[in-house]
Amino acid sequence: MTLGEIKRILRSTPIPLTRSLGQNFLHDGNQLRRIVAAAELSPSNRVLEIGPGLGPLTELLISEAGHVWALEKDLRLHRLLAERFAGAPNLVLRHVDALEWLKENPRDWTGWKIVANLPFSVASPLLVQFALSPQPPERLVVTLQWEVLQRLLAAAGQPDYGLLTLLLQMRFLPAAFFKIPASCFYPPPRVDSGCVTLQLRTPPLVAANLIPLFVRIVRRAFSQRRKTALKLLRGDWPEDRLTALFGQMGLHPQVRAEEISLPEFVRLAEMLASP
Ligand code: SAM
Repeated sequence: MTLGEIKRILRSTPIPLTRSLGQNFLHDGNQLRRIVAAAELSPSNRVLEIGPGLGPLTELLISEAGHVWALEKDLRLHRLLAERFAGAPNLVLRHVDALEWLKENPRDWTGWKIVANLPFSVASPLLVQFALSPQPPERLVVTLQWEVLQRLLAAAGQPDYGLLTLLLQMRFLPAAFFKIPASCFYPPPRVDSGCVTLQLRTPPLVAANLIPLFVRIVRRAFSQRRKTALKLLRGDWPEDRLTALFGQMGLHPQVRAEEISLPEFVRLAEMLASP
């Protein structure tokens, strides 16, 4: 789908674009092909796309994957897509708010791939939703604001490291990423974007029964940036137990959450879970 085609559709319909829905359409064919290549699709794959927009990614996905679901919140775009892809037998289009729909319809995403140019306003909660799913998808190939992408890739001690980093990296391994300049979108957003591939960790890094505890620990530890992790965690667990565990793990009593690595948080969850 070229820039000319996008402009022609938007002129002939006409659809005033909604900034709050992150309606910046990707028209650069090279970037679209790179995104689809990162998904490594085969005819046996099931793919979920969130926010198909005018369908530039959708048309590539339905030609390479066996089965595609696309969730679009904007009714005007949903109608256009339904018309455009009327003959596509392997596409299921839904007019829903993806975030609400995913919350209300928990399902087994085992084996699915999520390939999406995510609406900026709901990108982080959508990613967390997949990371905390009991049966998460096998791969996420998502386009995001560059600043959010940096948070997904960060390591302990780096400025972008935080709750989002830990919730996603607990379940997925960031495999590859590339930058997409704002000029590749119409209209161009104010900031650059990037596409990142997140691969489900197999075997899992955190046992399924420990995930709620891991999440509780990291949420609590990052609840107030200025306080030390120990001070925050003692709101939920006995201080003497925590002090002993920190000592065993070689963590300084004054350490802050942003200096504690993912494996250290996992170890903390494992130790707090054992009697
Ligand atoms: N995939 C298209 C592309 O690459 O050109 C459009 C991507 S655009 C960044 C985001 C799309 O998500 C828009 O079509 C917007 O209407 C849709 N959208 C925004 N919020 C949504 C939500 N909560 N659920 C589903 N779609 C949403």
